[in-house]
Amino acid sequence: MDWMVINNAIIKYELILRMACFGFVLMGLAYWESRATWRQGVLNQRVRWANHMALGGFSTFLVRMSFPVLALTMAVVAEVQHLGLLNTTTFLPFWLKVVLSLIGMDFAMYMEHRWMHRYKILWRVHQVHHSDTELDVSTGLRFHPIEYFFMMGIKLVAILFLGPPVFAVFIFEVMLISFLLFAHSNIQLSPIVEYYLRFIFVTPNMHRIHHSDIPFEHNKNFGFCFSIWDRMLNSYIAQPHQGDHHLVFGLEIYRLPAFQTLLKLLALPFIKYKAVKNRFAHIK
Ligand SMILES: [Zn+2]
Repeated sequence: MDWMVINNAIIKYELILRMACFGFVLMGLAYWESRATWRQGVLNQRVRWANHMALGGFSTFLVRMSFPVLALTMAVVAEVQHLGLLNTTTFLPFWLKVVLSLIGMDFAMYMEHRWMHRYKILWRVHQVHHSDTELDVSTGLRFHPIEYFFMMGIKLVAILFLGPPVFAVFIFEVMLISFLLFAHSNIQLSPIVEYYLRFIFVTPNMHRIHHSDIPFEHNKNFGFCFSIWDRMLNSYIAQPHQGDHHLVFGLEIYRLPAFQTLLKLLALPFIKYKAVKNRFAHIK
């Protein structure tokens, strides 16, 4: 197989290929949610979806416009300059380099997610994602532009360090968005399928616990694609304390509908926590 030709095609048609994969996965999961709903939503779903699509679209646009190099270009630079672990090893077969790249980049995203929870300044930004009081496939797009920037920064550093093949970076980008959408989806999976699937992959049941309003629970299950990191690094929780069907999503102080508008979501990292707490202290 001529990888130069494939790489050039990937770089040339990256945007259209990614948009097509994204559209296909989003529509497929939305349809699946409608056929096998885990929990019926009570909010206006059109408004939620419009907000999340606008936030995701706006953030992606900003990242693409602002970064001088994106993930694929960085992989090309690393390959040409022989940078990164995999670019300096010649004895590994190509398929193994691809597998190792997917695992390595997913680990970088796992760490990114842990840091978003660990450091106060990053948590302020990540709260935009966690303040959703319902969960469905559209929640997978609900991230503040600053978090999209941070994610891209971590990805670029990981690519420079790992030196993954261009093909692997493209597969990872598609895999990452697919799992982001899948993990947040409001799908009722068969218990048997879910049981085996979560040995390796992050499932919606596993990720729902991460959206619990209880801090102990939302500081667990950070994985994006593979569930192994949570198991290995002591952040895995199998079941929520209050049982699967009594899970309460969101963050207590941002529960009010006033915080669910697009402008408030964009402003949320800059709103003083104490001011919000005092202002809404009487509503409980
Ligand atoms: Zn999180």
